[in-house]
Amino acid sequence: MAKLPKPEELSKIDLTPPKTGWMDTPVVIKEGMFCHGAKPKSLEIVGFPNPRDWRPMDADWKLPENWKDILIKGIAERLEKYRSFRLFMDICVRCGACADKCHFFIGTGDPKNMPVLRAELIRSIYRKEFTLAGKLLARWPARVSLPSMS
Ligand code: SF4
Repeated sequence: MAKLPKPEELSKIDLTPPKTGWMDTPVVIKEGMFCHGAKPKSLEIVGFPNPRDWRPMDADWKLPENWKDILIKGIAERLEKYRSFRLFMDICVRCGACADKCHFFIGTGDPKNMPVLRAELIRSIYRKEFTLAGKLLARWPARVSLPSMS
């Protein structure tokens, strides 16, 4: 069983923003700061795909070969089905006001664990695959770098 942090250790989480920009701050993944995958037996009962034993700390997450296609197809289906999903993809202004309500961020102090940045992972796929600007920018030569936001 993984060693979980003690309550007194949790109260010492440093929420001071790092001195480096969030893209340049390395992530330190530790026990107690992530959720675990459900047991394969439980996934099979509810009919979820790819039931397997895995842990976030594993080097190999045992994802199917075409996991990127599955992800993009899943986003496309949800964009078609749920107007609220498309709306959220477009309206978040990245203000960060939701950060202090998120137990993952509060529990880790990791800026990359702020809800806005986790959502940004999905949103970056949305922009690249499902918006005109993203499709045009994807053709931009990779050696051209955009100005830093930090
Ligand atoms: S960062 Fe959070 S609070 Fe701010 S607009 Fe986006 S979802 Fe809403």
